[in-house]
Amino acid sequence: MLFNYRYVNHSIEGLQVYLDHLVKEVWCKANGPFSLDLLHPELKLIVEEISNDDSITKDYLYGPIRRIYELFRVQLTPVQRAQVSAWYDHNNDIEALCAGDPSKPPATYADIRAISTDLEAALKNFCKNLFTDVIHLKAVTSRIGEIEAHYRAFVTENGEGKCPYCGCGDIKGVHHSRREAYDHFLPKGIYPFNSVNFHNLAPMCHECNSTYKLAKDPTRHLDPISREAGGTRRKAFYSYATMASCITFTMTLKTKDIMRLQPDEIDLQLSAPGREEEVEAWKDVFGIEERYKARLCGKNDGIAWLQQVFEEAENVDLTPDQMLAAKLRSAEKVPYADSNFLRMPFLNACRIAKIIREGENRSTGEHEGG
Ligand SMILES: [Zn+2]
Repeated sequence: MLFNYRYVNHSIEGLQVYLDHLVKEVWCKANGPFSLDLLHPELKLIVEEISNDDSITKDYLYGPIRRIYELFRVQLTPVQRAQVSAWYDHNNDIEALCAGDPSKPPATYADIRAISTDLEAALKNFCKNLFTDVIHLKAVTSRIGEIEAHYRAFVTENGEGKCPYCGCGDIKGVHHSRREAYDHFLPKGIYPFNSVNFHNLAPMCHECNSTYKLAKDPTRHLDPISREAGGTRRKAFYSYATMASCITFTMTLKTKDIMRLQPDEIDLQLSAPGREEEVEAWKDVFGIEERYKARLCGKNDGIAWLQQVFEEAENVDLTPDQMLAAKLRSAEKVPYADSNFLRMPFLNACRIAKIIREGENRSTGEHEGG
């Protein structure tokens, strides 16, 4: 990703606190008959409140919590319970998972299935419902707040207004009445236990979330045949990393015919020294090269950017090359305004390909400096 989000602490993390207790202290230690008294005191109150609410027709909590308790009690050996407890920790250390930390191997639902198919089905449903339904129930929001409130706090702290995964898409902010969807960076359909972990959740632009990333797992290499993620582990950028990703753009054009520029005529190198795996994962998951090249070939982006340099240069009596130099200086300060992070390497590539030349203005064809 191009820049990182800053993590925002919020009371909504309370749901994860209840889950920590439920998995590690209740399920993994299941022994004797189930009782609501075993639950985190706040979760117990929530379950009771929901049970007494006739408007909630689906049993999201009491039945599933009790059923999973029984599965742990009857089906899982002490060794398997210890394993699940460790998996719980690993799956919630999102930063370590993104770093490919070998000491913290994550568990997928396939690993749970190898222990118990019943447990896999019950956990999958339970963890999914936590994010899609439980987090919105009044008994829950009255205690930990609404996800909309988290979003407002999030975009107040992260006010860039641009999607850090592509740099181009907009992220709705404090002045919008709607919000972006939260993406599960590690997909909730693959990994148990982290569906309401906000270190695994981040707003993403619609194009990144719903067209490109979908349910892809960034932390697995693509299968060479199916091109689906599912191979060995790899590193991926962590959304809340404190270290900048420092991706550099190097671009060369293999043609001077900019009006008919094709994606395969653009050589685009995206690199970050020592972070090759992360860059590959980012490019794979978000279709980065395809999207950037398509923009550069677009009439209202790449071509328009170039025309603008010629026209503005003429207006202020500069050479296009001087105008480009001035633009590069000001763009450095605001890399995500007007897609400058992509626009400037492109315009620079136009200069190197001698589409923009010192002393030449395309619109007049005059040579000023020879
Ligand atoms: Zn995006």
